[in-house]
Amino acid sequence: MKNIILLGAPGAGKGTQAAFIKEKYGVPHISTGDILRRNIADGTPLGLKAKSYIDAGALVPDDVVIGLVEDRLAQSDCNGGYILDGFPRTVAQAEALDRVARIDVAINVDVPFDVIVDRLSGRRVCACGETYHISTLGGDETCRKCGKPLYIRDDDKPETVLRRLEVYRQQTAPLANYYEAQGKLRNIEATGSREEIFADIEKVLDDLH
Ligand code: AMP
Repeated sequence: MKNIILLGAPGAGKGTQAAFIKEKYGVPHISTGDILRRNIADGTPLGLKAKSYIDAGALVPDDVVIGLVEDRLAQSDCNGGYILDGFPRTVAQAEALDRVARIDVAINVDVPFDVIVDRLSGRRVCACGETYHISTLGGDETCRKCGKPLYIRDDDKPETVLRRLEVYRQQTAPLANYYEAQGKLRNIEATGSREEIFADIEKVLDDLH
């Protein structure tokens, strides 16, 4: 299997698609956001350092996330390929990644801006990892899988959402050009259902050699 990057704005559905890819191709799903949130929940030094940036909708400093991704990629389950979700987010991170890894493809999950804002502001999550949109819950804000109460991520509050999207526009969107210049960019127009979007991603992955 290949070394895959998922690019796209917050709320584009990268996490959902990464889970589908993991399920079909059996490669680890590495989400820097999930790793950071787990560290915050566990109260580790890394979590303490990251929390104020995340809550403000800002990026955690490059050296912090680069170090954690380098450690993760050095683990043996990454030898047969992996999916990076939420990393790299800056050109400096992409350059650091190129020094330690050979990326095969960067899939850009492209979703219109108004859809993103609606998804993030309506997102409800469970501590078990499940994610929902408020419009599908019919007023019952408990997890369908484990029954725990759902909550709004601190960084999904409206003012923070706008800040995250601005950070994305300025710092992360230019990565499409970075991978385009390497001939590795594949754009997916992600307007259909999650299954339709995954079918397009499968085509991209099955075409790689
Ligand atoms: P995510 O779950 O990918 O939306 O990430 C949530 C938050 O974690 C982001 O808004 C950032 O504050 C932080 N974060 C995740 N990945 C990175 C990264 N590659 N570089 C810097 N900050 C990150």
